[in-house]
Amino acid sequence: MPEVKRPVQTIEVNYVCDKCGYGMMQKVGEMDPVTGDIKHECIICNHPQTFKWRPYPRIDHIGLDESIDSDS
Ligand SMILES: [Zn+2]
Repeated sequence: MPEVKRPVQTIEVNYVCDKCGYGMMQKVGEMDPVTGDIKHECIICNHPQTFKWRPYPRIDHIGLDESIDSDS
């Protein structure tokens, strides 16, 4: 396969706290390599929540023609 290149845009993906609706969830531990669980806490109300495989906040890259609303 030949090398392919394309321009992308950089986006930051955050998760707003399900409990207070204001704070951003922040990763507070390392991912469990077996289950993929990553512990997070709300930076405002400390509401704990576990996400799998993908931490918040994180930096993603998407194509220039892709919508930032899509769950990539
Ligand atoms: Zn909160």
